[in-house]
Amino acid sequence: MTRSWVDIDHAAIRHNLAVIRRAVGPGPQLCAVVKADGYGHGALEVAQTALAAGASSLAVAHAHEGAALRVGGVEAVILLLSEPVDADEVRAVVAHGLQSAVYTEAGIDALAATGAKLDVHLKVDTGMRRVGAEASDVLVLAERIRAAQHLRLQGLWTHCAVADEPENDFTALQFARFAEVVNRLEAAGFVVPVRHVRNSAALFAHPGSHFELVRPGIAIYGVAPAPALACRAEVADLVPVLSWYSQLSMVKRVPAGEGVSYGHHRRTERDTVVATVPVGYADGLPRSWGLNGGVVLVGGRRCPILGVVTMDQVMIDCGPDAEVLRGDQVVLIGRQGQAEITATEVATGTDTTAYEILTRIGPRVLRRHVNR
Ligand SMILES: *Cc1c(COP(=O)(O)O)cnc(C)c1O
Repeated sequence: MTRSWVDIDHAAIRHNLAVIRRAVGPGPQLCAVVKADGYGHGALEVAQTALAAGASSLAVAHAHEGAALRVGGVEAVILLLSEPVDADEVRAVVAHGLQSAVYTEAGIDALAATGAKLDVHLKVDTGMRRVGAEASDVLVLAERIRAAQHLRLQGLWTHCAVADEPENDFTALQFARFAEVVNRLEAAGFVVPVRHVRNSAALFAHPGSHFELVRPGIAIYGVAPAPALACRAEVADLVPVLSWYSQLSMVKRVPAGEGVSYGHHRRTERDTVVATVPVGYADGLPRSWGLNGGVVLVGGRRCPILGVVTMDQVMIDCGPDAEVLRGDQVVLIGRQGQAEITATEVATGTDTTAYEILTRIGPRVLRRHVNR
């Protein structure tokens, strides 16, 4: 018996890649972002399906994530989205032939010192203020890459900070800053084969060039980058890949006025059927979801969570007339009959994003891959 599991629908991954392809047109390569274990979906499995469905490369956040994909048999280009942070990561980049981001002299020198033949992607910070070179330093860094015998400047790229706000002009400013850096490098005689800027939000919500490659993450998993984008036609075509299930582990009648869960923050309003679900915040269900409109689906009905989610279990109100039994299926994220709970609904109710909800689904939750 498994207390909780997620189904990962590979038909939905293929569908979402087709939606992305339609949005960007035939030109750009699709780089599937599979960091953080494929946003909690299983990096290797998602990578395999994405590559078979039109992605030509993958992106990861940690070098060991890239190494694990290689060990799993992936031969495609794997982009490391930030510079190696230590010698172990440098070794992994070399051993597994990852294409690393670079943006500092020290980062370039560390890769050059290995003597390995490596393709690197020079990153410019156009306004995210996370990692990347200042625009004014890019030419010097590109010269340093050229001077390092075995390094090849394969990519030039940047990352958007507010692309999920379609009305925010800052994205256009970032695009303009990037274009200026591209022009400056080209004027200095550099030919950069792969320029890339756009994450999911940027590729759906902003006009302009997609360059040679786009880096969708969340869209592959079938989730809108932000609730504000969900109603756009192309975004609305995405299909959620992940559904999260459990089953009732106990059912009981509880009289009106009883406090439920730690702290007794919620009380039964009437004599009702209370059921327990063996999923808790240690599995990634936010503790506060029960205090902020949280629901799960049982028998096709939305059942409110009663009180705080505990570490391993959560109690729900099935209603006074419920005829539910221990073992009945529970949906935490996904569909049951006509009812649906999305990752975005959980995120909105707990003051975070769907990204965080998905990536926090823990290791106790079994991943089942369907429609592969
Ligand atoms: C995570 C990430 C992406 C993918 O972003 P989505 O919003 O999930 O599409 C792209 N580029 C970089 C640098 C990232 O860190």
